[in-house]
Amino acid sequence: MKMLEDKILQCGIVLPGNVLKVDSFLNHQLDVKLINELGKELYSSFLNDNITKILTVEASGIAIACAAAANFDVPVVFAKKGHHENVGNDVYTAEVFSFTKKKSYTVAVSKKFLSADDNVLIVDDFLATGEACFGLKKIVEEAGAKLAGVGIAVEKRFQGGGNTLRKEGVKLKSLAIIDSMTDDSIRFGVDD
Ligand code: 5GP
Repeated sequence: MKMLEDKILQCGIVLPGNVLKVDSFLNHQLDVKLINELGKELYSSFLNDNITKILTVEASGIAIACAAAANFDVPVVFAKKGHHENVGNDVYTAEVFSFTKKKSYTVAVSKKFLSADDNVLIVDDFLATGEACFGLKKIVEEAGAKLAGVGIAVEKRFQGGGNTLRKEGVKLKSLAIIDSMTDDSIRFGVDD
């Protein structure tokens, strides 16, 4: 999506360790117009997939998930990180290793909010090694729900998670795909 690629080139900062900082528009300060356009694009990609729920993980996936959900007119459920008493004990959980923070954490979703009737679209801001998506996918499976697909703002394809999902036959839509990045250049690829 050209609008997102342009914004990344204009405002993204490549940090050591293959991290792209997008805090001026995507995950700290939010460019709401841009995020609404990302939501519309995800809607057009999954329009015919009978989505009943959007699942993301706190905190940085929530804005994009909400923008998409407004188009589908379905609820967003966000997995909570760590142990939260207010989620209760009746939860689906998964362990996720964060390569940006170099540690594992548990994500939890209350059983109240996912059921076998759901057709779930997983949405997140980034797809890198795929850990976050695999954790959410495990939760969808535990709930007996159907995974309709995965919608991502920025896939760093060189980190492999997207290709694993594709190989598993998951319908994946990444709005920007980065094939390589260095301090002074970001090279985008196309979905193939
Ligand atoms: P994965 O689990 O696919 O390795 O990484 C995805 C998760 O890590 C996302 O939820 C995102 O919050 C975070 N993440 C991965 N790569 C980046 C990055 O380059 N920049 C930022 N800001 N977050 C990232």
